[in-house]
Amino acid sequence: MTLLNPQAAEALAAALTERDLPGRIRLIEAEVPGRLVFTTSLGIEDQVLTHAIALAKGRTEIVTLDTGRLFPETYDVWAETESAYGIRIRAFAPEREAEERFVAEEGINGFRHSVAARQACCGFRKVEPLARALKGAAGWLTGLRAGQSANRAATPLAAYDAERGLLKLNPLADWSREDVDRFVRDNYVPYNVLHDRGFPSIGCAPCTRAVRVGESERAGRWWWEQEEKKECGLHVGRPEANVEPGREAAV
Ligand code: SF4
Repeated sequence: MTLLNPQAAEALAAALTERDLPGRIRLIEAEVPGRLVFTTSLGIEDQVLTHAIALAKGRTEIVTLDTGRLFPETYDVWAETESAYGIRIRAFAPEREAEERFVAEEGINGFRHSVAARQACCGFRKVEPLARALKGAAGWLTGLRAGQSANRAATPLAAYDAERGLLKLNPLADWSREDVDRFVRDNYVPYNVLHDRGFPSIGCAPCTRAVRVGESERAGRWWWEQEEKKECGLHVGRPEANVEPGREAAV
């Protein structure tokens, strides 16, 4: 069993390097004690992980953050995925009161007013529901890849998240976008049709646009903000490398 500390995370990351994707899921389920939660955004990387987790028929829970502002196409692939794999993806939604307060104060699209307003919106729609989803978890699986953006370049296969006191597990950290596309094609994995319309990364509808040729994969997210501010708070400010609390890597 793997302990919940930076050294154990580093050892697990090294062991994961040697495995293929089904092997990585099996190893995580064997090694990480306690509750395992995979948070899917229903984007293409997360669909790869959902496929592997569903086929493993193990103990990893699949959950999503239903912000209430997702594309209709995202709800479509959510339903299609449940049907294809015979699973339920558990939804965590924003607290109603927080949503009503924000809309009353800032307006329905008030997140465009400032970075602070945008972070407040991501706060009650994503960050707080994520905290509820991860309550009591020992392991948090994500579909993050190092190649997605400069902000994510240091993403390891496993890291100790000191703030949450859990292991953050990124089984696709070393995959390329081509690896993801090939896996989806070869395994008939259902995916969001927006990926075929120029959306490599898909979040909330009002905060995501298609990217232009030559732009980074996440250029279409919060495109009106500076590059270094473009994260929703789920993965920013958390340790992405196996370092001691207080010495977290900047991501
Ligand atoms: Fe709000 Fe946009 Fe963040 Fe979604 S991505 S939670 S709509 S600011």
